[in-house]
Amino acid sequence: MYPMLKPALRRAWRGRNTVQFGVTPAHAVTLGPVDLATGSFLELLDGTRGLPLLHEEARALDLSERHVDTLLARLTEAGLLDDPRSAGQGADVLCRRAEVMDRQRPDVASLSVVRPEPGGGTRRMAARRAMRVQVRGAGRVGASIASVLSGAGVGHVEVLDGGRTEHGDVAPGGLPPAAVGERRDVAARRLVRRSAPGPAPRRAGTDGAAAGPPGSAGQPGLSLIVVAPRDGLAVYAPVADTAGPWIASGTPHLYAGVIEATGVVGPLVLPGGTGCAGCLELHRADRDPQWPRMLAQWRSGRRGAVPACDLGLATAVAGLAAAHALAFLDGDLPSCTGVRWEAALPLLDWRSEPIGPHADCSCGAAGGAMRDRTSGALPAQDTMAG
Ligand SMILES: [Zn+2]
Repeated sequence: MYPMLKPALRRAWRGRNTVQFGVTPAHAVTLGPVDLATGSFLELLDGTRGLPLLHEEARALDLSERHVDTLLARLTEAGLLDDPRSAGQGADVLCRRAEVMDRQRPDVASLSVVRPEPGGGTRRMAARRAMRVQVRGAGRVGASIASVLSGAGVGHVEVLDGGRTEHGDVAPGGLPPAAVGERRDVAARRLVRRSAPGPAPRRAGTDGAAAGPPGSAGQPGLSLIVVAPRDGLAVYAPVADTAGPWIASGTPHLYAGVIEATGVVGPLVLPGGTGCAGCLELHRADRDPQWPRMLAQWRSGRRGAVPACDLGLATAVAGLAAAHALAFLDGDLPSCTGVRWEAALPLLDWRSEPIGPHADCSCGAAGGAMRDRTSGALPAQDTMAG
């Protein structure tokens, strides 16, 4: 054990004998009372000293071994201690890849703030390498989401779309101008490779990271599908049948897109647990009996007009959707779980709307809705060696 105070959290003395770790309310923790000697001892917790050395240096500060052990226990309990060396086998492999680690250091630091346990940040980052995510859509939103997920360390990101890249698909975080005219899926695949912090994992499990349930062709099972079609109507009013196979296979899926001048993130659907596309449509029809009639017209209407899609809004939607996806992959249930977030131009006031289960929907969520927010259809969690 080489204890280290989480470097990501700024430290400040709050008054004479209380130390505050972190700035913002979401993650700030105070520790007190802390005397001067203990305050000096805290400076020694930088990950370079093992316990025997810490005990020895504490004696020089007139601090007993027991005082040190109690302090370390309190710091651990408060989620303030990190210990990257204890993060396990997959994390060791990650740490040995210096270039990859350098690229991901800010992400690991962020994870270390969110995960209370020592080594949790590195362990979560290593776990991302074994995860497989499918992004459906390679327009302004979809390609950017795929790029961010790959850059954030998700090892297997695949993108599905048809047709060839058009000028309007180009986005700063998405497909580049050079991809215009090229098949969208091919261009998106290259984007994913280029965004990755290092070479793709050979196969899940072979580089020490956790493997999900077996999928096709020796690949891990899908941890998540992100539905980000170029036509935002398919996000705002998704076709229930399209989601049928994902509901049947229990595959979590997240909707994200831009329709006209409104950005949409969510819901994240946990099949059988939270409201799905079918539930959404049934609720909408309950509230607005004319909705199915209009929906049929929109869906069958001739397309050809350029879909309205503000680049700033598309980028915000992509970033927010990717962050929600990563939070889910890291083992949490982000606020888009069973909820849709919407922001409309020009005010961009993000508002949320719960998408509850509907009793008439065949997905079964109404029967057993969200029994326990901490269990259920989460991706491979706590399966890391060590
Ligand atoms: Zn449903």
